[in-house]
Formats: sequence, C-alpha cells, structure tokens
Amino acid sequence: MRVLYRLRDAGFAGYLVGGAVRDLLVGGHPKDFDVATDATPEQVKALFRNSRLIGRRFRLAHVVFGREIIEVATFRANVDDGSGDRETHEGGRLVRDNVYGTIEDDAVRRDFTANALYYAVEDFSVRDYVGGFEDVQARKMKLIGDPEQRYREDPVRMLRAVRLAGKLGFGIDAASAEPIPRLAPLLSEAAPARLFEELLKLFLSGNAVASFEGLERYGLLPSILPETAAALASNRSGALRNMLLEGLRGTDARVANDEPVSPAFLFALLLWPAYCRALIGLQAQGVNAEEAQRRAADRVTLHQLGTVALPRRFSLPMQEIWLLQSRFATRQRKRVMRLLAHPRFRAAYDFLLLRLTASSEHAEDVAFWRAAQTQSSEELSAALGVAPPRGLDTGEGDAGDGEVGEEQPGEDPAAAPKRRRRRRRSGSAAPAAE
Ligand code: ATP
Ligand code: MG
Repeated sequence: MRVLYRLRDAGFAGYLVGGAVRDLLVGGHPKDFDVATDATPEQVKALFRNSRLIGRRFRLAHVVFGREIIEVATFRANVDDGSGDRETHEGGRLVRDNVYGTIEDDAVRRDFTANALYYAVEDFSVRDYVGGFEDVQARKMKLIGDPEQRYREDPVRMLRAVRLAGKLGFGIDAASAEPIPRLAPLLSEAAPARLFEELLKLFLSGNAVASFEGLERYGLLPSILPETAAALASNRSGALRNMLLEGLRGTDARVANDEPVSPAFLFALLLWPAYCRALIGLQAQGVNAEEAQRRAADRVTLHQLGTVALPRRFSLPMQEIWLLQSRFATRQRKRVMRLLAHPRFRAAYDFLLLRLTASSEHAEDVAFWRAAQTQSSEELSAALGVAPPRGLDTGEGDAGDGEVGEEQPGEDPAAAPKRRRRRRRSGSAAPAAE
C-alpha cells in the first residue's frame, strides 16, 4: 500500500497486480506482491530510497522493506507478438524498444485472465481488461488469447496452468486445457533451470498432491519426469504410485505445519520409481546388487538432468537416500551404529517409512530402526565401546536440507574425484560416516 500511495502522490499510476490480486479475491494469502506502474524504472528508483534496479532486458525496480521485496514493473507490451507496425499509445509512456506500453498492453501479455487483474488505491477498484474477475468467480484458469499460441510462446505456461489450478482449487477452462496433452512435449525445449524452479513450486508449495494429479491428468508427467512416468506406467499393481502420493501427502502436511521440506527428499521420492526400474533392469543383467544400485542412481540422475537442472547439492543427498535403503537390512551392531550416525539417516529412515506403504516387506526393518533410535546413544555405544555418534537423538535436519555443508567430515566434495567419493560413500565395506 505504501508503494501504491507513494506512486500516486508523485502523479503516477500504480496498481497491485497478478497473483496477489487473484489470491486476495479468493480469500488466500499472497506470497508476494507485484506492482505495475506507468513510471519508468528510473522514476521508481528516484522515488524510493529503498529500491534497486534489476534485469537487463526488462528492467524493473525492487522496493525493499526488510525481508519483503515488492517488485515494481513498468507497464509492458508483448514484444513477442511480432506485429511489425506497432502503434503508438497515446498516454502510454513509450520508451526505447517499444517495450513499455499501456495498462491494456500489460494486461494482455500476461498468461491467465485471473493473473491480469489490477487493484487501484485511488478508488479501491479492481480493473479488468480481459474478463479475469468473472473467471476468478467461476474458479477457472483461462489463457488470455489463443491458447495454442500462448503455450507455444512459453510452454511453461502449461505447468503454471496445472499448478495454479491445483493451488487455488480452480478448473482449467476447456479451451485452455485441450491443447495441453498435445503440446506437452514442447516442455523439453524449456530451460532446465527454469523447470527445476517450477518443479519446486509445483511440489513444495503445499499442493503437491493436486499438482501431481494435474500433471498426470494433462499428460505432462512424461515431459518433465520421463523415466518416472514410464516406471509408473509399467508398475501394474500401482504400488509405486501409491507410495509417491503418500510421500507427497506428507510433503503437503509438512508445508501446512510450517515444517521444512527438502528438494533432495522430494526428488528422491519423485525419481524413486525410475530408480527402482533401473535397478531391476541392471540386476536382471546380472550386475551385483551394490554395483547395480550405484549405476541405477547415476543413470537416473543423468537422464533426469536432460530435462530438469537438479543441482548437485540436491542430487547427491538424493542418491544417498536411495543408496542407504539397502543398509537398513543390516543387524550387525557396528553397522547399525554407523548408519544411525549417518548425516542422511533421518531422511533415509523417513523414506523407508514411505516404502512401507508400497510393500509390507519393510515392516520388520521399520520396527527395528524405530527401536534402534529410541535407545540412548550411551546405551548403544556402551555395548560397542565406541564414542556416541553425532546427531543420534536429535531428529534434527530430518529429510536433510541437502546443503553441501552436511558432507561427511574431512571430505572436500569439490576436491575428491567423483567416482572415488561415491564409492566411499555408498560402499557398505567403508560406510561414509567412518
Ligand atoms: P504465485 O506467485 O502464486 O506462484 P503468480 O501468478 O503470482 O503465482 P508469478 O510467477 O509471481 O506468479 O508471476 C506474477 C505475474 O506475472 C503473474 O500473475 C502473471 O500475470 C505474470 N506472469 C508470470 N509468468 C508468466 C508467463 N509465463 N507468461 C505471461 N505472464 C506471466
Ligand atoms: Mg507471485
């Protein structure tokens, strides 16, 4: 509100716009606030001491209030529409490149009608140039303009349709939904780093189950998680899908309770069907269990990197969660101690709990490791004559946040050659916590 009033007092137009207006209209809590204005970024900068300019192609201003950043963007015209004879907008502030436009231009270049509403402080009204207000009342996500063209311009809009519909409990308008299964393969052209960000939003914002079901329903899964989609399709019992959904329900519950969620654990879950499938294939070829696990983990990670840029600080702990699973079978006390002390133990154990939903064969392991954790570290150590392991009774950092800083002591993740490190970490003969 302060940004809007300051702009108005300086003689500019300023509106709250986008997701925040949409979320407020349905009674939700916006997670960020965007402002659209006819002031240029430089004018905004001059107006707010607590602001900075960002972006090269599209410059915009960030006005900073403590930890809150209000993004203030000048009205923009859609420069992608390629119309050669771009009109001049009377009243609009036309600046170099014709990038800036009128509020109407700014509205129609947005993706969904529900995302193109402008709230004005001078009369407390919502300005609507695309029918978005009605669509919000009707609870539907509807693309502005020709759906196919808009998806071709930016295929990530297909994921946004599913994500926002899932988050808001909206439907997707029939004409906007129809092209999605057909155009889903276009997502392979999207930037892998952007897809990674979008996947985090899909699955770590508290609506992971709805997101997943939407992706399935609109045929988007094979485009973003190809090997998982294939593995789920060939798993006739549906056990892997059930486990995945159970894991996503747990993720949603954690978000709802303000508990931390980790990308490493999420991707361990999302790619588990693919990992299992690769593992079975390798073992069928006669590769020994331990080697097969390593190769399956590497292969699945590598293939997934073709679509989604999963940073190593997440993919390494993800692989650890997988590789630790086979170590839950041990009952040898020394190995039990080591596994309990492993920095990724808690995440791996939580993962084992999930696997129980797919197969009751893990019930005994779960019972054993649950009991092992409730013994005090002294009790366990006394039996072995070793020092108490780190992190045993804390339950802290469960699901591990995947920071490189959590690597094993004395190990420089950047220095050691990849193969040796991985072998050391996963090899049961020389457990990582040693
Ligand atoms: P949320 O913040 O809840 O994820 P949002 O709609 O606010 O949803 P942002 O990514 O914050 O999403 O984008 C802000 C606004 O920018 C959107 O509401 C929309 O008007 C516009 N926008 C975002 N992405 C696109 C896109 N790919 N194409 C066109 N307009 C977009
Ligand atoms: Mg937003």
